[in-house]
Formats: sequence, C-alpha cells, structure tokens
Amino acid sequence: HLQITDVTKNFGPQEVLKGVNLAVSKGGTTAIVGPSGSGKTTLLRLIAGFEHPLAGSIALNGNTVAGDGVWVPAHKRHIGYVAQDGALFPHLTVGQNIAFGLDTAKLSGGRRAVAGRVSDLLEMVSLDPAMAKRRPHQLSGGQQQRVALARALAREPELMLLDEPFSALDAGLRVATRRAVAKVLAEAGVTTILVTHDQAEALSFADQVAVMRGGKLAQIGNPFVVYTRPADRATAEFLGDAV
Ligand code: ATP
Repeated sequence: HLQITDVTKNFGPQEVLKGVNLAVSKGGTTAIVGPSGSGKTTLLRLIAGFEHPLAGSIALNGNTVAGDGVWVPAHKRHIGYVAQDGALFPHLTVGQNIAFGLDTAKLSGGRRAVAGRVSDLLEMVSLDPAMAKRRPHQLSGGQQQRVALARALAREPELMLLDEPFSALDAGLRVATRRAVAKVLAEAGVTTILVTHDQAEALSFADQVAVMRGGKLAQIGNPFVVYTRPADRATAEFLGDAV
C-alpha cells in the first residue's frame, strides 16, 4: 500500500508538484498520464527516494518513508524503478546488469543459480538468454529497455515504478512484453505505478488512472470512467490527443 499525502516539490522557483494526494492499494496498478512537463517523472522519483519532497509525506505499507521528519534512503525502500532511458551500466554485460539487481544472498547454488535466474528473467521479458554476454551498446533501444525491466524485476520489489518502460518497443513487442511483465507483477502481488502515454496500455494494465496536469492530479479513477467521462475539458482534450 502506498499513500502520498499533500506532496509538494520545487525546482528553484518552479513549483513542479503542487499538493499531490494519491493512494495505491497493495497489488494494485495505477497508470499516471498527463502532458509532458506535468510532473509525472518527478513524482516517481520522489516515491523512489531520489528526491526529497518540500512538504507532505509518502508512506509505504503504513510506514512513512519521506516527510514528517523521516527519510528512508532509496536502497531501503524495496522499490524497483525503471527510468525512461533504461540507464543500464555500460561497462557491465547484460547478465551482470541483471545480476546486480539479484539478492545473491537469497540464492543458494552459487554462480550457476545466478546464471539460471538471469536466463529466466531474460525470457520473462522476451529476450534470448544468450544476450546475457552482450554489452548494452550492442543492443537496440527496445532491448535495453527490456534488460532494465529484467534488472528491476530481479530485485523482487514490493513496489514497481515504471516510467514509459515500453516506449521504445514496436507495437507487437510492446503488447507481448506488457503482458509478460503484468503477469509477473500480478503473480508476485507487486504494487505498480506506470507512467504512460499509451491509452491501451493504461486500460489493460491499470485498475486506476491518475491524470496529472500542472503539478496536480486533475482526476483519479477507474480507467474506463476516466477515458469515457473526463472530469473537465482540459482532461478531455489531453486524453483525446493521446489516443
Ligand atoms: P515527460 O512526460 O516529458 O517525461 P513529466 O510529466 O514526467 O514530463 P517531469 O520530468 O516530472 O515531467 O518535469 C516536470 C517539470 O520539472 C518540468 O518543467 C521539468 O523541466 C522540471 N524539472 C524536472 N527535473 C528537474 C530538475 N532536476 N531540475 C530542475 N527542473 C526540473
């Protein structure tokens, strides 16, 4: 369960988040949609622990992780984060990138167990396990994105934050990867927040859609309701444009 209460964030004089309230139930999936620059990535970075809120609080499973004088650093939040650009470690192989996310202490069986888990994770995101030996620059943008997903899944996070994780994939692959990732996350009961510009993705992936505009959530609700009954004209226009 994630609870965001009255969170604000400024970059210099610019108010980027102006009092955001959002609740995501355990195992639930929320899609955040909204125009470029509305604050979607900033909100994810605050949840992940890469930024401090100016005011307000963020709680995970009832425990405050930011705000109210509390600060839990990113690596202690059990959160998986896939950034827009994937951001793999360029000097490590694909296999090493994914193994970096694994809690090797939990895996008995040494190097063979790690290699097996890396193969499983690559298959989960529709990549050939033989790719484990390659370096990130030898992959396409879409393949790199899938490796970043596999690395985040390897951490077995309680909360997964996905910032346009399928944007570099062609339509067919996007559907296949989305389905595979949704299945893994659902089976593990992982709470998920997905930033997307893709309406089909929001409708199929999410049980809640939050529309962000100008640093605020303009509407939160069931995906079907949000897309068929936008709260106001600006939301309707944005959603119309996004189709
Ligand atoms: P997009 O859909 O284009 O990714 P977004 O909704 O994710 O956009 P953010 O990336 O959260 O938007 O940015 C919100 C605003 O905050 C933008 O005006 C951006 O320029 C500004 N901003 C984001 N990060 C920083 C930073 N580190 N320093 C200064 N300004 C920033």
